[in-house]
Amino acid sequence: MTTNAVRRPETAHLGRAVSQPGEEMPVSTVNTPRVAELVRELLIAVGEDPQREGLLDTPTRVASWWRTFLSPDPSAMATRFTETHASDQLVVVGGLKVWSLCEHHLLPMQLDAHVGYLANGTVLGLSKFGRIAQRYAGRLQVQERFTRQLAEEVATAIAGPDVAVTVHGVHLCMSMRGVRMEGARTSTVHAAGRFRTDPLLSQQFLTLTTTAGGGGAV
Ligand SMILES: [Zn+2]
Repeated sequence: MTTNAVRRPETAHLGRAVSQPGEEMPVSTVNTPRVAELVRELLIAVGEDPQREGLLDTPTRVASWWRTFLSPDPSAMATRFTETHASDQLVVVGGLKVWSLCEHHLLPMQLDAHVGYLANGTVLGLSKFGRIAQRYAGRLQVQERFTRQLAEEVATAIAGPDVAVTVHGVHLCMSMRGVRMEGARTSTVHAAGRFRTDPLLSQQFLTLTTTAGGGGAV
């Protein structure tokens, strides 16, 4: 029998932790002084005076933000727990809200993710979901790829294929440029394993993500 559970990351208190190597992390190659130099040039190119008081420290501030944004969190490795009572249980974790940067326009997007998976003796440390999401958000992204990467990382961590992820995104490139649609949201779904082949399971997941799993909208 399949049972459902909606859990928040903070409620983790399960079983025995087993170390789980995450995907190899990209090494940050941000050349901070060069970025600051380029921001200064950008200010000049858009008709500003980088010497005026309000802009004096802007290049170094912006460069420092880029370095922080693009540096992966070393603690983002997924922790796996053994939980012998968890058999074929649908676990849905919602409320994973992260900021990323659209690679087409270099403008922020807020991504609200829900992750579902079937626990078969292995349960992910719930507090790690947010960090995994944060790590894939901390780079130039598109929402579709973020959704897939999150699903694949969870599948690796649980050592099984039964994972589904939905993401609802608000993109500033849609809100403040182009069509300027303030309320526009983009939704993406990645379903694998039994979430792809079992319509009932898929429906249960989608229902949980739009009700108890964090609201389903930003
Ligand atoms: Zn964009």
